[in-house]
Amino acid sequence: NNKIRVGIAGYGNLGRGVESAISQNEDMTLVGVFTRREPVDVQLLSDQVPVHKLDEIESFKDDIDVLILCGGSKNDLPEQGPALAKHFTTVDSYDTHAKIPEYFASVDEVAQAAGTTAIISVGWDPGLFSINRMMGEAILPEGETYTFWGKGLSQGHSDAVRRVDGVKAGVQYTLPAEDAMNRVRNGELPELSTKEKHTRECYVVLEEGASEEQVRETIVTMPDYFADYNTTVNFITEEELRRDHAKMPHGGFVIRSGKTGESTDQVIEFSLKLDSNPEFTSSVLVAYARAAHKLQQKGDTGAKTVYDIAPGLLSPKSPAEIRKELL
Ligand code: NAP
Repeated sequence: NNKIRVGIAGYGNLGRGVESAISQNEDMTLVGVFTRREPVDVQLLSDQVPVHKLDEIESFKDDIDVLILCGGSKNDLPEQGPALAKHFTTVDSYDTHAKIPEYFASVDEVAQAAGTTAIISVGWDPGLFSINRMMGEAILPEGETYTFWGKGLSQGHSDAVRRVDGVKAGVQYTLPAEDAMNRVRNGELPELSTKEKHTRECYVVLEEGASEEQVRETIVTMPDYFADYNTTVNFITEEELRRDHAKMPHGGFVIRSGKTGESTDQVIEFSLKLDSNPEFTSSVLVAYARAAHKLQQKGDTGAKTVYDIAPGLLSPKSPAEIRKELL
């Protein structure tokens, strides 16, 4: 068969999401998962897929068309990205925005030399949001672009809440501020800081005997994390936390508000509402893995970002099919 043979490097939330997404794409097959841990300690969703040591991945060079890198951006990808692009066509979700140029250069050097194709920083931000920011600017040069995040679970802020005395457990969501969004949608072109664009919502389980008032006060006045934001604190039971707050939702909005002609308002809005950030990011990675494979087959090698990938390459359908069915 002619299925695209995919490998997964690193098995955390994204790895699990990629495994699940591949089973929804009939033109792909999952060859194996590669991990730094002992393979027996890594439990996949399917018991049909083998787990191997990442150290031994080179011997799978001829069995894998595209390797999807699911390591963390902070410590794993800066090392794994270039190391694996040396032997495989890859896709990753590197998301440290400030360091993308540096990361791109390190992967590009290796991929150019090896003749592999490596699409970096794929996902939704960076990824689909980046495409929409660029399109907004290109189409409406006179205007402003706004990115609002949320509703989303923030790991760093959840940790900060959990460190407060009297807090047994808790989570924090970042939400787009309604009034700021409405001003943008109305074409007011406001100048907004990150703080003005977002509000924070905490769900907290108290320790036995702790004071609601004291915990609330400590959270909302916490410097850097909460003091400058409009923050609400809700107290819930452990049972409610488990039941209602176990998922990793995220999403947000990219809005370009601009003017054409004399002063005609034009607004472009793209939004995502995700019940699971990792499962969605993984689905984007899998679609771009298809594009990476097509580019590699055409001999278009080196590092790429979402800006370099023609949209039609993401589809399992032929160019003629998408012209007929979707254009
Ligand atoms: P994660 O669950 O922490 O997994 C990262 C790595 O940690 C895995 O590859 C795995 O490597 C190791 N690991 C996972 N579970 C482990 C465990 N129980 N014990 C020991 N090691 C474990 O991270 P993630 O949620 O998949 O996210 C990965 C990256 O995706 C993030 O750093 C973020 O930058 C990026 N991301 C990007 C976007 C975007 O829109 N561009 C969106 C979401 C996330 P081994 O299997 O080798 O041990």
